[in-house]
Amino acid sequence: MLETLLIMTLVALLGFVFLQHRQQQQALRRQEKRNREVRKEALRERDQLLDALGDAFLLVNETSHIVFANACARKLVKGRRLMGRSIMEAFLDDQLSVAIMKCVRTGKPMQERVTLHSTYTPLGSAGGQGGSAWVIDAAPLASHGDAALTRVVIRDVTIEYQADQVRRDFVANASHELRTPMSIINGYLENLLDDDVLEEPVMARKFLGTMRKHGQRISRLVEDMLVISKMESGESMVLNQEAFGIDDCVQDVRDRLESMISHQQAQVVIDVQPEALQLTGDRFYWTQILFNLVENALKQNPRHGLQVAIKARKDDEVVTLSVCDDGVGIPAADLPYVFKRFYRVEKHHSQSGIKGTGLGLSIVRRAIEAHGGEIRATSVPGQQTCFTITVPEGEGHSADRMPDSAD
Ligand code: ADP
Repeated sequence: MLETLLIMTLVALLGFVFLQHRQQQQALRRQEKRNREVRKEALRERDQLLDALGDAFLLVNETSHIVFANACARKLVKGRRLMGRSIMEAFLDDQLSVAIMKCVRTGKPMQERVTLHSTYTPLGSAGGQGGSAWVIDAAPLASHGDAALTRVVIRDVTIEYQADQVRRDFVANASHELRTPMSIINGYLENLLDDDVLEEPVMARKFLGTMRKHGQRISRLVEDMLVISKMESGESMVLNQEAFGIDDCVQDVRDRLESMISHQQAQVVIDVQPEALQLTGDRFYWTQILFNLVENALKQNPRHGLQVAIKARKDDEVVTLSVCDDGVGIPAADLPYVFKRFYRVEKHHSQSGIKGTGLGLSIVRRAIEAHGGEIRATSVPGQQTCFTITVPEGEGHSADRMPDSAD
């Protein structure tokens, strides 16, 4: 009897312990599930946050495999798989992967700027024009459980890089353009002073004439560079917004170029539609635009009898201005580049002496863009070369600043 009681108590006890254990197990499982959900939610929030970043963000493990890539990183490699891939596989360009690997291997934070050739992107395939630049900022994460993770931020700094490049090119080109006439002047000065050329008036005069021509070129270059730098310093380049008559501008231009026109016996035909007479904007710049275009036509064609036509039309609130000539024209291969700074058509300039700075048309384009308009050039050499400007009639009211773009 006692035995039976003892066995029953033992069974009841065992049942109780088993029940307790099962309940504990269930509670533990529930807790684990909750923890998992909390972790999942935290990861989802982290991913959302990192996806909102404007820079590419990666987490790389100690074997240099990617364990996380945000939306920007995925976009950067145009949908190629990143997760689970090694850095070397993910980025086909060595410069990027080597920089990231350096940090993974050394475990030291690093920042590196990488410039990729124009035909390469982080994908290693053909990309945009003019190259791209990236800043890679990588650092090991302080502690992340057992895994040693490295965070990598890849920032696109192409816009800053290209703006820098434009500035560097400008300084290099400007120095080069100034150095040539300067050294010619210095050379002639040496001849005059050291070789007793002053004793020979005819020769001395010839030397002085050449020096004057190059001196004028330097002045012109400096003037054009000042105009460009004024246009690009947004602060000082506030456009006037006045209504003015195009015919007044054309007349100014004619007066200023009168000696060239009559010397070349050129014919300048002006054809301004009455509706297109009024323009709103900065009269100073519109005069400069027309001056540069008409002067170009004359100076590229010193032969007698050149025909230059200045036309203005208005259609659907858009004013179209054109300056056309029937001179030597611009070869098709040069046409796309004539608005670039310092670009001059080699063929024209190798034949004759000093003709310009190569800045005139880039000044023209920037001034037109500042008025919300655009310009294009067409040419059939020997027949007709036209610079055609289109500008919304009332655009001058809103365009009060020069655009930031640089050519
Ligand atoms: P430049 O000061 O040398 O004239 P521009 O920027 O005004 O510089 O012009 C760039 C080049 O485009 C010129 O050097 C010239 O070779 C070419 N060009 C411009 N206008 C004409 C034109 N009407 N006819 C032929 N060539 C032209």
